[in-house]
Amino acid sequence: MGKLDGRVVIVTGAARGQGEQEARLFRAEGAEVVVADVLDEQGKALAEEIGALYVHLDVSQESDWRRATQAAVEEYGRLDGLVNNAGILRFHTLLDTPLDEFMQIVNVNQVGCFLGIKAVGPVLSDGGTIVNTASYTGMTGMAGVGAYAASKHAILGLTRVAALELAPRGIRVNAMCPGAIDTAMSNPAVLDPTADGEQASRGLDRFYRKVVPLGRIGRPEEVARLALFLTSADSSYITGQPFVIDGGWLAGVSVL
Ligand code: NAD
Repeated sequence: MGKLDGRVVIVTGAARGQGEQEARLFRAEGAEVVVADVLDEQGKALAEEIGALYVHLDVSQESDWRRATQAAVEEYGRLDGLVNNAGILRFHTLLDTPLDEFMQIVNVNQVGCFLGIKAVGPVLSDGGTIVNTASYTGMTGMAGVGAYAASKHAILGLTRVAALELAPRGIRVNAMCPGAIDTAMSNPAVLDPTADGEQASRGLDRFYRKVVPLGRIGRPEEVARLALFLTSADSSYITGQPFVIDGGWLAGVSVL
């Protein structure tokens, strides 16, 4: 028995990184999975490998959401879950952030999450789940990523309101707040075929040892296990909450 037997779940930004691991784990736990991304080649290859449906979905486009939701229901006859995982990160101080860049981040991270809730909400089965990927920076500040942090704070607001509004149908809405996770977002070396990704990961571990109590960067598979918990009946009495998964980073600072 898998934890998601009989469930149909859309995972956005699932062509790589955390979304890919969520798609793989959910399939392994018995779910039908809709792999959604703008990276069509990678997304299709993953979907074929794990026996999922691929849909092109730019999360900032309402018409794409309509098509993706319809495709999921046409293929599997129902929809039980959504993981709003797609996201982008850019580095600038607030004073140096061009408005276009700020709006691009808001459109993908925040509007994308809103449109996802809006599109799947009406067709989600009673007792369904939505998991929104916020961030450590949705809970605290981080210099150099102001637009990103603002969009991730907003996702926690959306999560709480959606949880309140969808609770009468038994639909649960929670958020994940990952710290530093070893994907292309934190470790661009994984996208460079000429780079040694493992060496880059060890370098990141050395860096994060200074700030993360557990002494290393997180792995996308660890976030996928939290997404599974929040999508399965194991979390049946939990809604409207942010779940920090950061190796203790947010716990505070040490003077030892
Ligand atoms: P990643 O860059 O490997 O994956 C992001 C995925 O989102 C990619 O597949 C990308 O193609 C997709 N995407 C980007 N824009 C999109 C759009 N408009 N529509 C659909 N898909 C789009 O990074 P990741 O770490 O796997 O990121 C997953 C989520 O986790 C993001 O929301 C990110 O903000 C969040 N997060 C990441 C970290 C980290 O350290 N890696 C930490 C906290 C939160």
